[in-house]
Amino acid sequence: MPLPSVLMVASEAAPFCKTGGLADVVGSLPAALHERGVEVAVVLPGYLDLKTPDPPTEVWRNLQVPIGPHVFQADIFRADRCGVAFYFVDCPPLFGRHGIYGDARGDFADNHLRYGVLCLAALGVVRHLFRPNIIHCHDWQSSLLPVYLRTVLAGSPEFIGMKTLLTIHNLGYQGRFRAGLLGDLGLSPALMHPGAIEYFGDINFLKGGIAFSDAINTVSPTYAREIQTPEYGFGLDGFLRTRSGHISGILNGADYSQWNPESDPYIAKNYSVDDLSGKMECKRALLQQMELPGRPERPLIGIVSRFADQKGFDLVEQIAQELAEEDAALAVLGSGDARFENSFRYLASARPDKFGVRIGYDEALSHRIEAGADMFLMPSRYEPCGLNQIYSLRYGTVPVVRATGGLDDTIEDGAGFKFWDYSARSLLLAVRAALEAYQDGGAWRETMKRCMRKDFSWRVSAGQYLELYRQLLRR
Ligand code: ADP
Repeated sequence: MPLPSVLMVASEAAPFCKTGGLADVVGSLPAALHERGVEVAVVLPGYLDLKTPDPPTEVWRNLQVPIGPHVFQADIFRADRCGVAFYFVDCPPLFGRHGIYGDARGDFADNHLRYGVLCLAALGVVRHLFRPNIIHCHDWQSSLLPVYLRTVLAGSPEFIGMKTLLTIHNLGYQGRFRAGLLGDLGLSPALMHPGAIEYFGDINFLKGGIAFSDAINTVSPTYAREIQTPEYGFGLDGFLRTRSGHISGILNGADYSQWNPESDPYIAKNYSVDDLSGKMECKRALLQQMELPGRPERPLIGIVSRFADQKGFDLVEQIAQELAEEDAALAVLGSGDARFENSFRYLASARPDKFGVRIGYDEALSHRIEAGADMFLMPSRYEPCGLNQIYSLRYGTVPVVRATGGLDDTIEDGAGFKFWDYSARSLLLAVRAALEAYQDGGAWRETMKRCMRKDFSWRVSAGQYLELYRQLLRR
């Protein structure tokens, strides 16, 4: 059987462009696969704000991308990183603007076209630059690729035998557009039925990916089960159940070359499981940066997050008063929903001794909170995998999480605190249990060490992806 060769298609990958965990995965899984001998390349949009350490090289000029009534022209640029070729689709009318999915006015109105073109341009890369036997799509932005492949391009000899895998990183984002845009995408009206891309009269990109991919996976085993239930299915649980034999869950790994207190360049002092002394210095520096007065021995709870409904901050709002009464402080970094930005701003102004808050996206500060806090709070309503709790473990910053999705799969008793009910009371009890445990310094240090010894490196997860690719090729 041939070794899998894989082309990934996604809308984000660290360090080039990132809004969340998807970028961490697409930035590091390919390198982990490459280490196992798999040939991997990645196609990304050539966004205006792309961060490329070295200027990428132009490898294809004037790729014609016909889509519905339009023809877009794209140049393809390439940058290599850890043995992986990253191809950027440079198409200024679609990607030559600030913002990834939108700007201050909201989502871009032409996102259907931007990501439709990404999919078709990726197939151009397959034609001219990199021939895989597996195309691995991520989330709704690349979900039309299997749809094109199995409909418009079915029978096209250059794609024969290629298999597709769709990884769902977050079912909450489906790429839903009004039916009138179907023509723009060059898709047949015959696809507008509930077994294909139609969803309550709209076009649903993710649903198309679920319908037409050869296999589907999500980013943790628990989330793979949860999305097939009404509670977590975002309206697609029934449809997902029709494909349940093709759905699996593979936990994300952490990129420990980026997230390691022994070598992290962002933090005040490096430390390790054998010598924790630097962590107190990190805490002091963080307290100072967040302008939190008081004894450094006082427990410090960290939060780094997108502020979205999913993340459970409505529960934090409900217990803010009780939290302020505890002998503890919070260091919060996040951005997103104005509602949560405003409530955290309000808390910081009302109780500056207890709440240190920074609204925005700040890579360096996210590392400093991981290192400087004693505990890390993730009360998510749902969490496909979650990466910050995995980073927290490595930094000896004990996670306090709601037992859902990947949070449930990665946090175990003795190395973190879990609560089950999505309720303010359960959250408060879990936080209080952690604060109480913190009082016993010796036992707490042992808990930190147990956390730090957990290993969620990509090695294991990349092996599971490799096995999934092999299964696909055997079919
Ligand atoms: P999600 O993908 O739902 O946002 P994850 O926990 O899977 O959640 O991944 C979040 C990633 O984004 C982590 O690497 C985290 O450090 C980063 N992140 C989130 N918010 C911020 C922020 N405001 N500043 C810096 N990094 C952030």
